[in-house]
Amino acid sequence: MNSNDRTRIEHNALFSGMNAESFDYMLEHSVVRDLDVGERLLQPDTENHHLHLILEGALNVYLIAQEPQEHTTLQAGECVGEVSLIDGKYPSAIVVAAQATRILSIPYDTVWSLINNSRTVAGNLLALLANRLRNDNQSIVETQRSKMQFEHQASTDALTGVHNRHWMGRAFPRALQRCTLNKQPFAVMVVDIDHFKKINDTYGHLVGDLALKTVAQCMSDNLRPHDLLARYGGEEFAVLLTEADLESAKMIAERLRSRIAAAEIRSNDISFHVTLSIGITPTQHEDQLENLIHEADQALYRAKQMGRNRVEVFH
Ligand code: GH3
Ligand code: MG
Ligand code: MG
Repeated sequence: MNSNDRTRIEHNALFSGMNAESFDYMLEHSVVRDLDVGERLLQPDTENHHLHLILEGALNVYLIAQEPQEHTTLQAGECVGEVSLIDGKYPSAIVVAAQATRILSIPYDTVWSLINNSRTVAGNLLALLANRLRNDNQSIVETQRSKMQFEHQASTDALTGVHNRHWMGRAFPRALQRCTLNKQPFAVMVVDIDHFKKINDTYGHLVGDLALKTVAQCMSDNLRPHDLLARYGGEEFAVLLTEADLESAKMIAERLRSRIAAAEIRSNDISFHVTLSIGITPTQHEDQLENLIHEADQALYRAKQMGRNRVEVFH
């Protein structure tokens, strides 16, 4: 062992406060090893009997997943193998040298006798474990957060902020099933903005986008909390009205229609209105979502034919 190694070991937090006798005992029983880049130090199917302290270089720790992903990189001064020391189990990760790396490997027997002889070493080791636990918890929180963010993005329409068609494909059938089980009437509604192409052509796409956002906002403001709303196509929305018989479905649709027709859309010095055509299909029993949408679409088609800005029911 060279004097650089010895100095690094002496200054490591794991041995802080340890007496000279124990320190020499520890070094006598340990070995310094040089790992080539890519060399495996630990893997889950191989028992490990050493606590490894990095003197120089770095180790990559990969969690066991179907496709191993880099979990973290340990730098000089950090340890691996402390969890197996405590629970006696096989390593839970693959540890590979990220570059040419020099480590001190201390046999578990030696570590245990140091712990038995010195409260200081036991305390240092606990501090090391506490730190590892804290970092792991932090990375779990971060992973969870990015997963939730990803799920939110995957189910939300970026322009209007309402749910998208992908979400609708999962959420609507579940709600349909629940309504059927509870013997509640429900209705599917398809909503389409009238002459929307003309709005784009007249005021430009950005103003068209603003109109879409306004319509989406107005719809979600005027639906009941248990209704489901999704942007279904370019300027089309689908709504599942739960706990709604034909009369209340018509009332809700009519309310949406009139609120939107009355809402002023403003952008700089432009001000205009849009209208909606709405098709409804009321039902009492479970059916395929595609069938219900198809029926509501037929009613919507009739609303368009009969002059737009109106609500029609599928018969
Ligand atoms: P109708 O009353 O028969 O529904 O006529 P319409 O013009 O609304 O229907 P059409 O299907 O001909 O046109 C829909 C238009 O919606 C065409 C498309 O460019 C526009 N559109 C679709 N998605 C978006 C979007 O995200 N932003 C904007 N600004 N326009 C969109
Ligand atoms: Mg359309
Ligand atoms: Mg349209």
